Amino acid sequence: MVKKVVVSFPADSASRPLIYELIKKYDIKVSIIKADIDGGRGGKLVLELDSDSDHIRQAVNFMKESGVDVTPLEKKISYDDTKCVSCGACTSACPSGALSISAPDWKLKFQPDKCVVCKLCIVSCPLKLFKIEFAD
Ligand code: SF4
Ligand code: SF4
Repeated sequence: MVKKVVVSFPADSASRPLIYELIKKYDIKVSIIKADIDGGRGGKLVLELDSDSDHIRQAVNFMKESGVDVTPLEKKISYDDTKCVSCGACTSACPSGALSISAPDWKLKFQPDKCVVCKLCIVSCPLKLFKIEFAD
């Protein structure tokens, strides 16, 4: 399985070889999606952890026990509704029904609670109005 997490670590953990330990101890394939490290004063990483679920759970527990804060990465889709022309291209691509157009106004309606963040709308909109947002 693949799990994306936001890892926030304090200054006293900043010099610890965290990534090495995840790979070596828990057999996790680690990809760094985003890094914001403030010269010895701690920082924040967005990591993609790829392994079986037991190893990932153990690795997350290990980070927490080491004083590192670990939270699941929240992702959401948003779009610029002020520029939308309700052409319907994104509704055809959307597999979950989160995007729809219907009477009486025939305007695009977005229901975020139905969105599965598949990103198909991002590539389908001719005006490039969709974007993906990551929590920080
Ligand atoms: S594809 Fe873009 S312009 Fe067309 S309805 Fe969807 S968001 Fe609006
Ligand atoms: S990310 Fe996927 S599920 Fe969410 S609105 Fe776009 S097409 Fe629909």
